[in-house]
Amino acid sequence: MTDALFDVSGTVVLVSGGSRGIGLAIAKAFLSRGAKVIITGRNEDTLRAACDAVTPAPFAMTYQPCDVADTDAISACVDAVIADHGRIDTLVNCAGINKRMPALDYTPEDFDRIIDTNLRGAFFMAQTVGRQMVKQGSGSQINIGSLSTYGSLAQVAPYGMSKSALSSMTRVMALEWGRHGVRVNEVAPGFILTDLTGKLWSDPNLQAWNKTVTPMGRMGAVEDLIGAAIFLASPAAAFLTGQVIRVDGGASAGI
Ligand code: NDP
Repeated sequence: MTDALFDVSGTVVLVSGGSRGIGLAIAKAFLSRGAKVIITGRNEDTLRAACDAVTPAPFAMTYQPCDVADTDAISACVDAVIADHGRIDTLVNCAGINKRMPALDYTPEDFDRIIDTNLRGAFFMAQTVGRQMVKQGSGSQINIGSLSTYGSLAQVAPYGMSKSALSSMTRVMALEWGRHGVRVNEVAPGFILTDLTGKLWSDPNLQAWNKTVTPMGRMGAVEDLIGAAIFLASPAAAFLTGQVIRVDGGASAGI
């Protein structure tokens, strides 16, 4: 029996950056709870493979290719979802990239690529979906932030800037859209093992360091993000907006 407080069944959920990693884990969690889930990403083969790999339960997971750095692609993606489903109840704004290096070494191209995806892309995805949510008078947006906003890390200057600005965006949109029934919150993951971080965390010295700075004493898994996402989309969070949930094993409490 589904607890009505956390029931997301029948809702339409769009997950940007849903083809891999954290986005895919969250997408599958909504799907298994009876939501209609649409994932996006740039690579159509990866998207198709991700959809083919899940058992429809009770709906099939579908995809819309979309590069969030391209505002026309965002509009086309959101229009297609609305044409298919008539509404969007939850946006998981998750598409993101990083390139680690000292601040002295970033080229303008590196900088623009990160900002165009993590910040500009997240803004226009939120705005485009927000227009539909304001029109329908309801919705929940979940922006995937980062521990880097709450505890500074070296060698991620543009990434950290993009994620800090995303927090600001979350609060402003929450202020503007609350009276329309649209909630906007942030989930800030800590050190989670995915394609984005796998190479970095294969270094045993870094793994040892991570254990010392993370009170829970381990790396995060993509599944650790599911609870916060389902909660924020569900009736249980009906009076919760403009907030951040840090899913980082306690790391931001100490650094
Ligand atoms: P992955 O690299 O595993 O997945 C990234 C996803 O974003 C993929 O689906 C990718 O698909 C998509 N993506 C990347 N660029 C674009 C783009 N321009 N347009 C559309 N989709 C895009 O990363 P994670 O799962 O680790 O990260 C997901 C989010 O979580 C990111 O926002 C990241 O900043 C954040 N995060 C991750 C942490 C971690 O430790 N892993 C910690 C804190 C935050 P494709 O490449 O096919 O486009």
